Amino acid sequence: MPPPASHFVHRAAWLRAAVLGANDGIISTASLIAGVAASGAGRGAILTAAVAGWAAGAMAMAAGEYVSVSSQGDSEAADLERERRALKNFPEVETEELTAIYQRRGLAPALARQVAEQLMATDALSAHARDELGLGERDVANPLTAALASAVSFSVGAALPTLVAFFASPAATVVAAPAASLVFLAALGALGAWLGGAPPAKPTLRVAFWGALAMAVTAGIGALIGKAV
Ligand SMILES: [Zn+2]
Repeated sequence: MPPPASHFVHRAAWLRAAVLGANDGIISTASLIAGVAASGAGRGAILTAAVAGWAAGAMAMAAGEYVSVSSQGDSEAADLERERRALKNFPEVETEELTAIYQRRGLAPALARQVAEQLMATDALSAHARDELGLGERDVANPLTAALASAVSFSVGAALPTLVAFFASPAATVVAAPAASLVFLAALGALGAWLGGAPPAKPTLRVAFWGALAMAVTAGIGALIGKAV
């Protein structure tokens, strides 16, 4: 059994995606709420904007994630296909290539050659995918699962400021939604750091800073537009 610390990197990938989605949901929805509330709009307009922003954001995250995971899968498949053909047509060149890679990693030439030959005798494509292309060890994400996961994590984040806007008066919302959201963001930043095994102070401050900036800018724009129209 490896010590638990060795799993932080694996867990961090999923966690980072979930925490990022929730961060996005909180920041964009709270900014939208602050902007509309700062324009002097009523409760109906604020909640409409919040829910519309929530739906738009969740769909945009899902679409973006689906496209990005799919095209990464496409290019990995194309890389593997090129590698398969090279292994079939130029086995000696490919053996040399793998030998050189192991030498660069510190093996003596004869041993590097031996390792390359033995690994290629068992499963040449896997050996090249892993050590030449850097593929294989990590599990390939399913595009639909990834899309759903980002939509859900965005929605969890978006729900928080929307609930604040639902319960607070329109006048109080301008301050309450961003203030509550900063607390949510800081808590999420600390939680993410703690689960990922990193010290929490820096990530917490970073996410709170960018959240505060986003909400302040949007509230400022909302107030200007509220005066102008
Ligand atoms: Zn190769």
